Amino acid sequence: MSKTVRLILGDQLNSNHSWFKTTDDSVTYVMMEIRSETDYAKHHIQKVVGFFAAMQAFYFDLKAKKHQLIYMYLNDEDNLQSFDRNIKSLISKHKFTHFEYQLPDEFRVDEVLKELCKSSEISSSVIDSEHFFTSRNELEHFFEGKKTFVMENFYRMLRKKHDVLMEGDQPLTGKWNYDSENRKKLPKNHKPTPPLVFSNDVSKVLEQINTTDIKTIGNIDAVNFVWPINRAQSLQLLDFFLAECLHLFGSFQDAMTPNEWSLYHSRLSFSMNLKMISPQEVIDKAMKEWESRPNEIEYNQLEGFVRQIIGWREYMRGIYWLKMPEYSSMNFFNNQEKLPDWFWTGNTKMNCLKDAINQSLNFAYAHHIQRLMITGNFALLAGIDPDEIDAWYLGIYIDAIEWVEITNTRGMSQFADGGIVGTKPYVSSAAYIDKMSHYCGSCFYKKELKTGGKSCPFNSLYWNFYDKNEGKLAKNPRIGMMYNVWRKMKPEAKVALLEQADYYLKKINEL
Ligand code: FAD
Ligand code: SF4
Repeated sequence: MSKTVRLILGDQLNSNHSWFKTTDDSVTYVMMEIRSETDYAKHHIQKVVGFFAAMQAFYFDLKAKKHQLIYMYLNDEDNLQSFDRNIKSLISKHKFTHFEYQLPDEFRVDEVLKELCKSSEISSSVIDSEHFFTSRNELEHFFEGKKTFVMENFYRMLRKKHDVLMEGDQPLTGKWNYDSENRKKLPKNHKPTPPLVFSNDVSKVLEQINTTDIKTIGNIDAVNFVWPINRAQSLQLLDFFLAECLHLFGSFQDAMTPNEWSLYHSRLSFSMNLKMISPQEVIDKAMKEWESRPNEIEYNQLEGFVRQIIGWREYMRGIYWLKMPEYSSMNFFNNQEKLPDWFWTGNTKMNCLKDAINQSLNFAYAHHIQRLMITGNFALLAGIDPDEIDAWYLGIYIDAIEWVEITNTRGMSQFADGGIVGTKPYVSSAAYIDKMSHYCGSCFYKKELKTGGKSCPFNSLYWNFYDKNEGKLAKNPRIGMMYNVWRKMKPEAKVALLEQADYYLKKINEL
């Protein structure tokens, strides 16, 4: 009799996958908590706990639906702590005759499983994870023969192909892009809607982890774990977002303010990246919500949200599969510096960084503009080695899985790919941070000062960055203007800025 073993990875918790449409006595599913996954980065404790809690919930759900399953807990005696060793051992123990898996999203895991199939004595097959709008190679085909990979073009093609916000072959309302109407600062006395948080008791999962020597970062309240750990909670979070946040999503997408960790963001990335919910259902529900509240939700809010999911998310995945593994070692600026110690503690006098890092340590979350224009911006201005930055982002965020982490970090944020993802580096001085946030007013440093012990470090580091990288950037048409300003500056002003930057870089751990 044929006996099939099907592997379900920790980020493949898709209960609507065709695998689960019927039960079959000849099929056994296997899920495993393993050290190769806990140890490839120093993860936030909430990330490790969140993954294991969601995997366990998925296991019990499938079990209740009468599927046959094996679940390997972290400390099980027969757990050999890697996919290939565990699968090989299960094949020999249970006499499986066929091995199946869903296409992994990570290059690393993909390689391990391909190798396992090659070396295994039984037959094997692989099936799509049935989650994304696009296939792995769709972006590669779309941009074939092109020198640049413009996200907007890919986004428009997907809107047409999947008939999202379209009227025939034209965009609904006649306009594709509403960025210029979005991205406002929060008004001074505006009180954002408090986020919906869960109170999951995950203390048993944490106890297991605490018996091992797994190295983690960050804080956790294990009896009030705030993240959704199953599909029902993920849908609840989606409903909350649609009811309470969508109407201001676009407007305040880039806004930042102290002690408000999520503003009008959805916090759905963890649920989506683990596939507890699909991007299709998120977009379908968002469109229905907009249709049902035409006077409350403006179109630009909806388009801003749809763009992130059908645009950026699918685009980043396509770039990942097109450019890996080379992508993981790209370092366009040849940056070599170490990450400052305070990235791991939040202990800095710079208000914007203190807030973004402390919130990341407390919630394993920062919203996009904090990741891009606060921590990412500083790291690039300070010339930090992209390997160090990647390791930090891959560890600290609950939604960090390499396909979407590395493309955003090395690509969008650090320009280490030399302009595959972005057309210019995302860097700024204090002016932009002050424009979009309420951080500067109460900061030890002064946003308007460019030099001196109280000058905002972003100001001198900004010009130092352009000066240092002139050979690589001056010809970029999107930055030429900055070099005109720099060249016109008085020589003594330039020297003072560069000396200030040099001083700050030497004292980086004390900033
Ligand atoms: P919202 O602001 O509510 O956006 C809705 C959804 O759109 C998100 O859930 C996400 O699925 C998608 N989305 C938005 N922006 C992007 C983007 N740039 N790329 C891909 N999808 C996007 N996202 C991750 O999921 N994992 C990561 O590890 C990750 N690392 C990042 C590192 C850096 C340096 C930067 C600048 C961005 C990173 N992002 C990452 C993208 C983005 O910041 C997060 O998806 C977002 O902050 C998640 O919060 P949210 O669900 O509240 O998003
Ligand atoms: Fe950040 Fe500079 Fe503003 Fe302080 S003054 S919050 S360091 S941008």
